[in-house]
Amino acid sequence: MQTELHPNVRKFLAQRLGNTINEQVATQTEKVINPSDGSILAEVAMGRAREIDIAISAAERAFPAWASLSPENRARLLHRFAEELEKHSAELAQLESLDVGKPVGAAEGFDIPFGIECFRYFADLSRQVDYSIPLHVKAFEARTWRVPYGVCGFIFPWNFPFTLLCWGIAPALAAGNTVVVKPSEITPLTTLYAAQIAAEAGLPPGVFNVVVGKGNEAGVALSSSTRIKRMSFTGSPEVGRAVGEQSGRNLIPCKLELGGKGAAVVFDDVDVDTVATQLAGAITLNTGQVCCTATRWMIQDAIYDRFVNKVTETLKGTKVGPGLNRETQMGPLVSEAQRKRVLGYLERGRREGAGTILNGGTVSPDGAGNGFYVSPALLEGRDDNVCCREEIFGPCAYLLRFRDEEAAIATINGIPYGLANSVWSSDLSRANRVAERLAAGNNWINAHNLFAYGLPYGGINLSGMGGGVNSPETFYDYLRSQTIARPLS
Ligand code: NAD
Repeated sequence: MQTELHPNVRKFLAQRLGNTINEQVATQTEKVINPSDGSILAEVAMGRAREIDIAISAAERAFPAWASLSPENRARLLHRFAEELEKHSAELAQLESLDVGKPVGAAEGFDIPFGIECFRYFADLSRQVDYSIPLHVKAFEARTWRVPYGVCGFIFPWNFPFTLLCWGIAPALAAGNTVVVKPSEITPLTTLYAAQIAAEAGLPPGVFNVVVGKGNEAGVALSSSTRIKRMSFTGSPEVGRAVGEQSGRNLIPCKLELGGKGAAVVFDDVDVDTVATQLAGAITLNTGQVCCTATRWMIQDAIYDRFVNKVTETLKGTKVGPGLNRETQMGPLVSEAQRKRVLGYLERGRREGAGTILNGGTVSPDGAGNGFYVSPALLEGRDDNVCCREEIFGPCAYLLRFRDEEAAIATINGIPYGLANSVWSSDLSRANRVAERLAAGNNWINAHNLFAYGLPYGGINLSGMGGGVNSPETFYDYLRSQTIARPLS
């Protein structure tokens, strides 16, 4: 059943979209494509260095007043923003589904409400923390005074545009910074819609600025600006490295949330059907375009065949289709380029000798026009295969057999990514022991893709650096410390 488009969504898409700074200076536009059928969703102005500069100026002008609001007053405004976002959550969910291709029910159930909750979490936290912390140092009256940085820059990818926007800017705004956001040029819709709602909710002009633009233009301009006081980037390791280098040159702190190649290690004491069903869900979630999801499945010998049978049956039964179709369980990939990337990886993997459990390939579900669909794929074989070592970002997993715990740990730690893994066992002391030894920012037990506010989330090595998101530490990351001291004699 196709979801009826909300009248506000129709009205929004018919506008000339672009940046949210007062002057619509960018003239060059790009089409935003609906991955579910290949049609044109909207035309969006592409900002460049000039628009980034204007947005930073707006954010600089807004900073002193925003920073000097009491935490209570700032929190009140952020709660009002969250309320307004909630009132518009149906529209936001439809826009996210149209733009990314994800099932609208997933956007309604997770992306939008969980994103909105982030503003509430950090707004509440900002009211509880101490901004002036006494230092007990002999012969001094001294304290640490925590202040916001100023204008913070944010660059986001296309897979969870709204949720990642909230994870990024909510702590920065709650701490008293102003922000300039560059969303992915291919999925800018919910970010622009949220900025419109921010204005309606009474967030002062210049506090939350958006410039849509290409990475090599607006992205480079934002990350290299010497007027940005703190940088946050979510995306691929290659671009993350470039953004990190720029921040290094500008001597500003930088948060990098990058790609992953998560492992799931499944011991033979689990309920095989349950784990197989959950791991099938891990690669169909957002059509596998999830940085932290499990894509290397290490299955203990004794249950390997049973696991493969169950997971194959589950994946074959997954309903692939357009995001707005309520029966869809897995939507398309975000773009034709992404489809080429995924199919290219599968071909390379097979050329390097991987065995095929489930083929994966282009599919054309009913009513899907020229959408960018692929079906799920499962490969198996040696652990040096390209599909076992590199992030594919599609509905694919690579299966490996293992006999003992030590070998499994060594294989998992043998690649440079370090974002998220999971350990599956009914022996919780073993699960904890293994989880402690896996080199990653997050190691979950008997579940994968676990998120909650207060549960820190971040990566190490090729998967990122700089403190991560979603925890009280994230909030402190957006405050810098000043030491204030006076000799007592
Ligand atoms: P990407 O790195 O290609 O692009 C991310 C953003 O950077 C986009 O807005 C893009 O326009 C911009 N950009 C591109 N080149 C730039 C440059 N030279 N300077 C500044 N900005 C530039 O990533 P993507 O393809 O949009 O997203 C997929 C990647 O994101 C995957 O690797 C995925 O794992 C990662 N990701 C990580 C997390 C996390 O929390 N760790 C979350 C989501 C996605």
